[in-house]
Amino acid sequence: MPVPLLNLHREYAELQGEAETAVLRVLRSGQYILSENVFAFESEFASYVGTQYAVSVGNGTDALVIALKALGIGAGDEVITTPYTFFATAESIAAVGATPVFCDVRRDTYNIDASKIAALITPKTKAIMPVHLFGQCAEMDEINAIAKRNGLFVIEDACQAMGAWYKGRMAGSLSDIACFSFFPTKNLACAGDGGMIVTEYECLADICRGLRAHGSGEDGRRAYELMAKAALEKAAKAAESERDGADIPCEEAAYNVPSGLKEQVPAYEGAPITPNTAPPVSSKYYNYVVGYNSRLDELQAALLRVKLKNLDKSLDSRKRAAAFYDDALAGLEGITLPHTSPGGSHAYHLYVLLSERRDALREYLTGRGIATGVYYPVPLHLQKVFEPLRYQKGSMPQAEYLSARALAIPLFAQITEAEQQEVAAAIKEFCG
Ligand SMILES: *Cc1c(COP(=O)(O)O)cnc(C)c1O
Repeated sequence: MPVPLLNLHREYAELQGEAETAVLRVLRSGQYILSENVFAFESEFASYVGTQYAVSVGNGTDALVIALKALGIGAGDEVITTPYTFFATAESIAAVGATPVFCDVRRDTYNIDASKIAALITPKTKAIMPVHLFGQCAEMDEINAIAKRNGLFVIEDACQAMGAWYKGRMAGSLSDIACFSFFPTKNLACAGDGGMIVTEYECLADICRGLRAHGSGEDGRRAYELMAKAALEKAAKAAESERDGADIPCEEAAYNVPSGLKEQVPAYEGAPITPNTAPPVSSKYYNYVVGYNSRLDELQAALLRVKLKNLDKSLDSRKRAAAFYDDALAGLEGITLPHTSPGGSHAYHLYVLLSERRDALREYLTGRGIATGVYYPVPLHLQKVFEPLRYQKGSMPQAEYLSARALAIPLFAQITEAEQQEVAAAIKEFCG
């Protein structure tokens, strides 16, 4: 019996009636952009995750780019992140003109190793971007503590972790600003591309809302005002530290980045420093900042509203399927099963084990009709595109170790026990 890594038809079949009604209603309404379903979904999503604000965008990558922009991160800035993740994490940092600084991961959780972050902080560091890889949260208490000590922002890449939690709080509510993807393979997925930014801070949500639609109209104007104010404050701060520079030890001055977001607006490099010149009239065709065209559309939002209601059930099924593998594959020679940290809940976007003979195991399973996936064969510090950053092979030993051994086996909410038995039996056979 062939076993797929993921089967989207089966999930759709479960929700077909309700999904098609919702989508048809949008098609017939003639309202396709930033309308009822998008706003309702944003509010439902924010309550699910437990944040004050949610701003939907075109995809998870744009969510990261827009979040970084909203924090004023750009050219000359550094953002510390993990090399063991999907490319979009570091791509978003490079896309705003900043430099990704890679911090090796933990071999057990596959997530950024918080104990290695502090050593990478320089005067240029502006933020830490942990990824909750495969659905398990990074060590957010440690990461937030380091960020606080050093005046850095924390941006969660929660694209794989919808529904995961950490010490009683949902992934996405554990930092200054967080990003999700609704790509069809993700835990909460749409029928195409979609993404979401969540935050506790009104000013950040307002800037994101302005940036997602060309910086135009009321949203654009509000973004403009906040960004211009931030740029003014930043300029004033720079002038102040230049004046006082002689007295402050270099490191302290450099780390004097604002941390209490509630009291202040994030810095923005590119905004004009003349808040009073904004035109008095606001409309769609008045543009205030250079933004993006990155919106979640009504059709996707309508579908996502149906799927959000089903999410907890689907997460339970994923957890049950993972527990099955944990049992069935325990103690096999040459296989390490995914580690789950206490105090959290893994959302099992993927079930990724480690095998000493990964490529041979993969081939063996393929021969038996069992689909697998390698996430990720090349850690980001060794990707061609990041050659200019001059990382050497061997510089991120844990990420390199995992890249050579990681193998995702079939797991999705509708996988059957018979299919899982088949997978487990084949792996056992391989291991002898
Ligand atoms: C999927 C994913 C993204 C990007 O999301 P898209 O919606 O595909 O743009 C970013 N980071 C991680 C970790 C992801 O898994």
